[in-house]
Amino acid sequence: MSVTKIALVGIGKIARDQHVPTIAASDRFELVAAVTGHQPPEGIPGYRTIAEMVQAHPEVQAVSICTPPRGRMQVIAEALSHNLDVMIEKPPAATISEAETFAGMARDAGRVFYATWHSREAAAVEPAKQWLDGKTIRRVEVNWKEDVRVWHPGQAWIWEPGIGVFDPGINALSVLTHILPLPMMLQSAELRFPSNRDAPIAADLDYTHGDAPVRVEFDFDQRGPQTWDIVIETDAGHLKLSEGASKMAVDGEAVAVDDDPEYARLYRHFAKLLDARQSDADLSPFRHVADAYLLGRRREVGPFEE
Ligand code: NAP
Repeated sequence: MSVTKIALVGIGKIARDQHVPTIAASDRFELVAAVTGHQPPEGIPGYRTIAEMVQAHPEVQAVSICTPPRGRMQVIAEALSHNLDVMIEKPPAATISEAETFAGMARDAGRVFYATWHSREAAAVEPAKQWLDGKTIRRVEVNWKEDVRVWHPGQAWIWEPGIGVFDPGINALSVLTHILPLPMMLQSAELRFPSNRDAPIAADLDYTHGDAPVRVEFDFDQRGPQTWDIVIETDAGHLKLSEGASKMAVDGEAVAVDDDPEYARLYRHFAKLLDARQSDADLSPFRHVADAYLLGRRREVGPFEE
């Protein structure tokens, strides 16, 4: 088995919480360097730019980009110009137009590009997709509610236009677009903007999936227990995905799924893409976010304080 020497770009919460330990535990990847404006992870050399990093470490073959979505275009272009394969955190970009260029840029450079969706790697996602196969879906209900103060403490970028509650919400959309057999079509939406912010703190979205209604509720102001649930009623039973699709129950009975962590699977998928020299850039969850901004009625709510 070959080992891919990889560098992380952007050392923030998710890089430290997930990427660094996942790469450390992997025998398929070796973390060689970090590109950061601040402190690199302990024991890893840090560089200000990809160009500086590549000069010091010409052995690096791939980068995993963990910066916020805005500004990715320049980072990806720089990585490709240095012949690096690229994986990026979700959401892929600041705009659909930008995101749509990435796979083509990578193809022209002869590199692999992977737009990741970590929630699609949650343990119950593939079992749920298999269970739904051949069944008629009657109703879908999603409650994806978490506390922004816990998951994004002090992050200014999370309140930039186009982000807000859709940063976690896109995780639910990435699961739905993977497990549901038909495309969902947005019918109406309400986006609730705090009076002092440029992005919504909550959103209610009503879709159709064939004849079935799909009700999606996102909230970024959920205190106490956090809720990441998807319920799907079919002609042959009731499926519940909970804890971010890491757990699954059918008709109230828990179904055993393996407990492989999401980010371990994410890096295994990147390894497969590298072996096959193939890219994976499904933008469907991101398109749903754009649809929500297109159709969503805006309502102002009270100010958000950290
Ligand atoms: P974060 O803690 O704010 O870290 C982002 C890092 O990106 C910063 O530390 C900085 O790294 C770099 N950066 C470059 N340009 C920046 C800018 N204009 N503003 C802020 N940081 C900038 O964010 P995060 O929570 O790790 O999220 C990063 C990405 O991962 C996002 O796309 C997010 O959706 C995704 N994600 C986050 C979580 C989560 O729970 N937080 C979960 C899954 C996915 P340096 O200091 O190294 O320069």
